[in-house]
Amino acid sequence: MTFATLGLIEPLLRALETLGYQTPTPVQAQAIPAVLAGRDLMAAAQTGTGKTAGFAVPLLQLLAMEGPKVSANSVRALILVPTRELAEQVHASVAQYAENLPLSTYAVYGGVSINPQMMKLRKGVDVLVATPGRLLDLFRQKALKFSQLQTLVLDEADRMLDLGFSEELSNIYRVLPKKRQTLLFSATFSDDIRLLAGQMLNDPLSIEVSPRNVAANTVKQWVVPVDKKRKAELFVHLMRKGKWKQVLVFAKTRKGVDELVEKLQGLGINADGIHGDKPQATRQRALDRFKASEVQILVATDVAARGLDIEDLPMVVNFDLPIVAEDYIHRIGRTGRAGNTGEAISLVCADEVNMLSAIEMLTRQTLTRHMEQDFEPEHRVPDTDASGQVVKKPKKPKKPNTSGGSKRNLGKWVESGEVSVAPPSLKPVRKVPAFNTGPRKKK
Ligand code: AMP
Repeated sequence: MTFATLGLIEPLLRALETLGYQTPTPVQAQAIPAVLAGRDLMAAAQTGTGKTAGFAVPLLQLLAMEGPKVSANSVRALILVPTRELAEQVHASVAQYAENLPLSTYAVYGGVSINPQMMKLRKGVDVLVATPGRLLDLFRQKALKFSQLQTLVLDEADRMLDLGFSEELSNIYRVLPKKRQTLLFSATFSDDIRLLAGQMLNDPLSIEVSPRNVAANTVKQWVVPVDKKRKAELFVHLMRKGKWKQVLVFAKTRKGVDELVEKLQGLGINADGIHGDKPQATRQRALDRFKASEVQILVATDVAARGLDIEDLPMVVNFDLPIVAEDYIHRIGRTGRAGNTGEAISLVCADEVNMLSAIEMLTRQTLTRHMEQDFEPEHRVPDTDASGQVVKKPKKPKKPNTSGGSKRNLGKWVESGEVSVAPPSLKPVRKVPAFNTGPRKKK
């Protein structure tokens, strides 16, 4: 299959060729013809599957071929995304796809001055990428009208709900024209997402990417059990031992990000951090420097790192496991992208066993554990498996086996080959006791 056989026009085919896209990914093969045919979509696809081109390319074709010229302060297609970084990233992709078309594109998000955004919107924009809060601000300040809106895209809808945007989404929904095409993309389909889809979509076509996730399939995943207080030390040890060059590290809290960055910088390691407390310009600069390999270690919270597309990122480290199990899939999706291989290592302490269990259940795999010599935890991480069970109760740690003949292959990587991540479950995820998989507050 080629992009031409999907019915795309020549200016778009040329743009895709320039980007080196040869074959449509599974989500593109399904989404492009459906969007061109005017259908609403409910797509289970996560970052790394090529979903951005899946919705943006046919959307651009419809805008180029149908409908009036955009009027002042109007927008013809609106792409809603959960974070500022994702807004920039999706906009950059849309602008590349639209390179040979006479269409205007723009991104708006909070954390930066609203005035330049209002100025830019005066002439109208064909495709606007926006975070929900800033979009509403602009609408309330009469900088935006939706009477020309043909298409609405909800990108990473599950994440928008996780971040507490459901009220903003309802308010936006109320002011949009009823007659429009709506495309909803979500990595997971909880009851809340289904409710949202029920309100916003009209006879949608359901799309699920092929059973094996394209990106995650190429990610080797490991767990290293360790005591909480020794995580930073273990991280530095593994980094030096593995001669890691460029690593994206996820920590649970803003404080955790700052502490780790400070510790690494104190050791002369070239590290920087991004989280929701930092001004947008600082976050973007850190990210740009990381992308340009000027920063070796970028430490981030989930909020800041959502949806980032960093080319050829070889390694992701979960310094802390995510509170919401689905975030694990998003995090490891930062590596092994577009067919490259990658590694995702999680430093897991005993407190995190329920999170580990929820991740294994969600991804339907038991993650391979590697015990790092001299870092064996005093507080043992109980065994877990993909059934969601914490298999054994914690035992007292055995005395270190100095003869080297341990059952757990102390100090040796246990290769299990490539581990695949199952597709995002369309059923609500079974809950693991004492572990919150539901929506959470803004960090
Ligand atoms: P996305 O899931 O939209 O964030 O895309 C993930 C990465 O895959 C991005 O770097 C895209 O540029 C790249 N990509 C998307 N579609 C294709 C394709 N058909 N061929 C090669 N690379 C692609």
